[in-house]
Amino acid sequence: MDSHQLGDNLSAILHTEDELRSRLAEMAREIEVDYAGNPPLLVGVLKGAVMVMADLARELRFHAQMDWMAVSSYGASTKSSGVVRILKDLDADITGRDVLIVEDIIDSGLTLSWLKENLESRGAKSVRICTMLRKPEALKVEVDVAYVGFDIPVEFVVGYGLDFAEDYRNLRDVAVLAPHVYGGE
Ligand code: 5GP
Ligand code: MG
Ligand code: MG
Repeated sequence: MDSHQLGDNLSAILHTEDELRSRLAEMAREIEVDYAGNPPLLVGVLKGAVMVMADLARELRFHAQMDWMAVSSYGASTKSSGVVRILKDLDADITGRDVLIVEDIIDSGLTLSWLKENLESRGAKSVRICTMLRKPEALKVEVDVAYVGFDIPVEFVVGYGLDFAEDYRNLRDVAVLAPHVYGGE
């Protein structure tokens, strides 16, 4: 889909597929240096991080294991509740391991700060966060994020794994959802 085919429900393309991929390549080079000789376990947060994980993992020039967690998120709403529930836990025992959380987006930061603490409490050697997108002006808690793709404005975005009521995840670009779709102004 390109900007000529946005339709009525998407108001703008924020980052194209190409921009996302080339930024991910830069992030991968940083990650390779930081974890030289010591590949972390990549932990993706379902479902939004599926695209980031697939592209990042293949971009990395080391053998990396992947694991997945699912935590409660917004559902069909666009506001964070701050209540985090594990829907699917890790398969791996992360005791003594270096863990790199791979996320699609950080909005309030509530999910990630909770998740980071949760993984640290299991005895991981280190827990770092890599996110494709972040909304700095929406942060409600401080989260130490090691790798950020793009900082974006406080708008509800979809695509590249990100959904609205489970739609739009397979959109190749990241686009802004028109506020009338979710009852915003
Ligand atoms: P946080 O806890 O940082 O507020 O939000 C975490 C989760 O909320 C993200 O992983 C994502 O699932 C969802 N989220 C936050 N902002 C957006 C957005 O702009 N678009 C979509 N589709 N999901 C979002
Ligand atoms: Mg997510
Ligand atoms: Mg969602």
